[in-house]
Amino acid sequence: MNASLAARSLRSVWHPCTQMKLHEAQPPIAIAHASGPWLHDVDGRRYLDGISSWWVNLFGHSHPHIQAALADQLERLDHVMLAGFTHAPVVELSERLAALTGLGHAFYGSDGASATEIALKMSAHFWRNSGRPAKNRFIGLAGGYHGETVGALAVTDIAIFREAYAPLVRLAATVPSPDARGARLGESAFEVARRSAAALQAWLAEHHEETAALIVEPLVQCAAGMAMHDPEYLRLARALCDRYEVHLVVDEIATGFGRTGTMFAHQQAGIRPDLICLSKGLTGGTLPLSAVLTTDAVYEAFYDDQLARGFLHSHSYTGNPLACRAALATLEIFEQQDVLARNAVLARALDEAFAPLTSHPRVRHARHLGMIWAWDVETALPDFASRYHRHALAHGLLLRPIGRTIYAMPPYVLDAEAVQCLAQGALAALEATLAEETPAS
Ligand SMILES: *Cc1c(COP(=O)(O)O)cnc(C)c1O
Repeated sequence: MNASLAARSLRSVWHPCTQMKLHEAQPPIAIAHASGPWLHDVDGRRYLDGISSWWVNLFGHSHPHIQAALADQLERLDHVMLAGFTHAPVVELSERLAALTGLGHAFYGSDGASATEIALKMSAHFWRNSGRPAKNRFIGLAGGYHGETVGALAVTDIAIFREAYAPLVRLAATVPSPDARGARLGESAFEVARRSAAALQAWLAEHHEETAALIVEPLVQCAAGMAMHDPEYLRLARALCDRYEVHLVVDEIATGFGRTGTMFAHQQAGIRPDLICLSKGLTGGTLPLSAVLTTDAVYEAFYDDQLARGFLHSHSYTGNPLACRAALATLEIFEQQDVLARNAVLARALDEAFAPLTSHPRVRHARHLGMIWAWDVETALPDFASRYHRHALAHGLLLRPIGRTIYAMPPYVLDAEAVQCLAQGALAALEATLAEETPAS
């Protein structure tokens, strides 16, 4: 049955982020159902979801509280357009997100990339409404990832995603990443942050008149391979953005909702952004939803008698009641279960279980923050990631390295068995992959 579903999928579905021809050798795995951290395929095999299904799942699959909220919502109101109408789930969710972020007036999209588009358009339009239309360019960090629609690609500095579409994109400026792995001899992560901030300052000093916003992934640039930086960078970036009158947009699409140990990563720097982008974990990994929240100052620049000064952006499903209810149920779990404290305990257990991988002789830059672990592997295998992915699957694990970086970003609901399965499988898959290196002759 798996074979036939996989074959039909290859005939009818264009799979994302995939060279379809590679599927000739490795057909997609047909998943029949999922619960907790486990995915079950149609042939009865199970896989531990070590990367939370592309970083969206927080509390495991088929969570009963989210399911019940969705079933209840489905009986009341499936969807209504949000222009000219409103409903309880979108109002309650917006109120809660405002309380959590200290920002307001949540604007909704469906994906992370649309949140990026919304934030960039909002920032540039703010400056236009403020009589400074020249401030319409953006700054991103080297290796930054903010989605793959044409507008978002302007600030996504990952060659494989951008190269083919370069002629379509109005490139943002790219400033050095504070990635702590870039430390020079004897340099600390804190010092790398200061050095990178100095480069940002140099750029802003020259170009602030044309710059609307700086967009950053706070503390962890996930798609760059879990590149981590010191919170000092965010503090300095905040101060520079204030000084040069540039918005600071924090993209918490991957880092939000407890992933880095605090509800939002930027909170570890004690700063407040001008705009925040949320998605991925927002609905606990059940339905697509994204949101951008901003300051009153930004909001008020659009509040006017003139239609054209308003933010005339829209998506058909903006503020979808089902997705908002799933998000509300997700936030209820955070409140009721003291998730951040429980995660700290789980993270210690995982960190201990990962010790043999962390101290593996071929691992460099082992790093950990909250519920994210990453290990760079020294290997000459050009296709290390896909080989490792296959070996991990053979050990009942979903792990998908980025280049030569293995990472784990599991749901927050691993029991002792799952912890061992993840840690032992990750190590075994590494050994199996390295065994495929051809010995130097
Ligand atoms: C995944 C991601 C996005 C894009 O979200 P999509 O829903 O895939 O469009 C944007 N920014 C960051 C930091 C992400 O990790």
